[in-house]
Amino acid sequence: MSNLDDLYREIILDHYRTPRNRGALDSPPAVRVEGFNPLCGDELVLYLVVDNGVVTDIKMTGHGCSISQASSSLMSVAVKGKNLDEVETVMERFKEMMTLKERSLDENGEAAPLDLRNLGEIAALAGVVKFPVRIKCATLAWKTLAEAVAEAEAEAT
Ligand code: ZN
Repeated sequence: MSNLDDLYREIILDHYRTPRNRGALDSPPAVRVEGFNPLCGDELVLYLVVDNGVVTDIKMTGHGCSISQASSSLMSVAVKGKNLDEVETVMERFKEMMTLKERSLDENGEAAPLDLRNLGEIAALAGVVKFPVRIKCATLAWKTLAEAVAEAEAEAT
């Protein structure tokens, strides 16, 4: 077990025990989107406020396993205050991280190293790709976010 794995585990536990941006927002003006992962029973209600192309506020309620809870907390920190182009980039990078296993495995079945430097704390979820049944737990918040962003964009036009 490397120190990096320990650090990542600590980040996930920290976000699970002390989730950021918990709560609800008035909707409207916030976009409200529900997410559900039937494989694990993870549930999420996401509130998103996009003002002039910037995520000015994001909050979530719901319950589920530690991975889903930590992932939604990490996601909220990663996108709050960012403009939609930046949010798109973060979502792309996360998706890339979660599909790494399909992309390239070496002869030991290990995923090729990914450049985690520009991922910030969400890199802590990189290890989830080793547990395929948990990937949907980690991606739930991000899929729900993508829906909320699309809805906010549709409302803005
Ligand atoms: Zn789960």
